Amino acid sequence: MARVALVTGGTRGIGRAIAERLKAAGHKVAANYARDHAAAQTFQRETGIPAYSWDVADHAACEAGIAKVVADLGPIEILINNAGITRDATMHKMSVEGWRDVVDTNLTSCFNMCRQVIDSMRQRGFGRIVNVGSINGQAGQYGQVNYAAAKSGIHGFTKALAQEGAAKGITVNAIAPGYVDTDMVRAVPPAVLEKIIARIPVGRLGRAEDIARTVLFLVADDADFITGSTISVNGGQHMY
Ligand code: NDP
Repeated sequence: MARVALVTGGTRGIGRAIAERLKAAGHKVAANYARDHAAAQTFQRETGIPAYSWDVADHAACEAGIAKVVADLGPIEILINNAGITRDATMHKMSVEGWRDVVDTNLTSCFNMCRQVIDSMRQRGFGRIVNVGSINGQAGQYGQVNYAAAKSGIHGFTKALAQEGAAKGITVNAIAPGYVDTDMVRAVPPAVLEKIIARIPVGRLGRAEDIARTVLFLVADDADFITGSTISVNGGQHMY
């Protein structure tokens, strides 16, 4: 059945692939992004999917942004919490801003977004929520205390909300991608990246499409018995 879907961070990288896949499956899709208006315009032109700019770390902005999407497309039945950032530094060099930005953007955003859609999902007796975690939330990573903590938090968030939603037809799952070839990973120095790829049994970086196909599987109407799960999509790099 065609549903209304919202993808945060949906204009670039993994989010873009998710938005495109959901649209190809017949859903009515909206994409959120932060501030790269040029990328969002290109995305809208190339995909025909509307893009909405707001900061997912800001609760009031999520309230206003989602109200606009609902007015344009209808109540949100599928929510993909994908927006995320890194601000890497070892603990002895990490600023309080670097901690807060990462935790607010990657984790608090899940609360900000879910809080806005949960009532209508409960009333309608249907909802699909997918939160994008990370291999580094499962395994930890040098220089990423902030990011690993936020992504690890997503996995607990997912399991708790899954318990609350189960009786109301709402499933809540997480995906833990390994290293995926997007702008985020292109920022990693080539020598470091080479070492990372050497540790991936499948022998390549992930593709945004690898994550998008997993989202599609989880949001299907008949995926209603899958909830509270984390699916690792990492080429065998970390078996959790
Ligand atoms: P990209 O950096 O390629 O894209 C990030 C997207 O998120 C952009 O659309 C960006 O908007 C948006 N975004 C960032 N901050 C905010 C914000 N505060 N409010 C709204 N939107 C925001 O990231 P990836 O596609 O690589 O990553 C997507 C998700 O997957 C993230 O959660 C990331 O942590 C996770 N992940 C990625 C991995 C990888 O290897 N790439 C590995 C494991 C997890 P704008 O264009 O305006 O900047």
